[in-house]
Amino acid sequence: MSEQKLLDVLDCSVSYGPIQALNGVSLSVNQGEIVALLGANGAGKTTLLQTVSGLLRPTSGQVIYQGTDVTGMEAEKIVEKHLIHVPEHRQIFSTMTVLDNLYLGAYHHRKTTNKQAIEENIKKVFELFPILSDRKDQMGGTMSGGQQQMLAIARGMMAEPDLLLLDEPTLGLAPLVAKDVLELVGDLRKQFGTTILLIEQNLHASLRVADRGYVISHGEIIKSGSSSELLNDPEVKEAYLGHT
Ligand code: ATP
Repeated sequence: MSEQKLLDVLDCSVSYGPIQALNGVSLSVNQGEIVALLGANGAGKTTLLQTVSGLLRPTSGQVIYQGTDVTGMEAEKIVEKHLIHVPEHRQIFSTMTVLDNLYLGAYHHRKTTNKQAIEENIKKVFELFPILSDRKDQMGGTMSGGQQQMLAIARGMMAEPDLLLLDEPTLGLAPLVAKDVLELVGDLRKQFGTTILLIEQNLHASLRVADRGYVISHGEIIKSGSSSELLNDPEVKEAYLGHT
């Protein structure tokens, strides 16, 4: 696997008024990797993803993406660089069809992606998510939780991500459905070569799909390592894995 760096978060701190949510966080993601960001509720995981995708501006530190400093850049400009964030809680359009939700995912690229490319991308995501093809005319909101999550990820894929940020894709899903969704995350990399930074509460399952992980606690990275290192680390086990 290539060691070319795609993302470098350098010593980033973020505050919400008096609350310091991130305190000097550094992490990197190499081209082609799946990296898991692990931690308890309120640890700062979502804040970190939002900082990378331009939704939040750090008070200090830098975000380097594809060798360019994107710190504080508008979120829309970052999307144009094919850095795509699939947020927590799915946020699909429930009164639009599955197909129209997918077209909306391509909308950000209307300047750079022609109609033929959009149709090809629809075909590719339908191959990976056949359930979405079967249900393409169904309203998004009438899909099951797992199907809606697949739609949210597929919509993100329509924007041709080089780096995909996934915020708790299994949140609220039954364990077997969660397992399917995480397997699909692995398939995304296989089929599209997409690099993925994944937030998960489902620690065993996410470390099975990820190459490496970081553990964040109270806004600081307290551990990092390969998935097997983290799974075998007694401190990590005690703090997080014991609860799954
Ligand atoms: P969860 O898994 O519960 O989403 P998380 O690890 O993603 O947790 P964050 O949502 O990043 O954690 O929150 C980090 C800290 O920042 C928490 O203490 C949280 O209460 C606080 N926080 C998050 N968003 C805001 C906000 N909009 N205003 C004030 N404080 C916030």
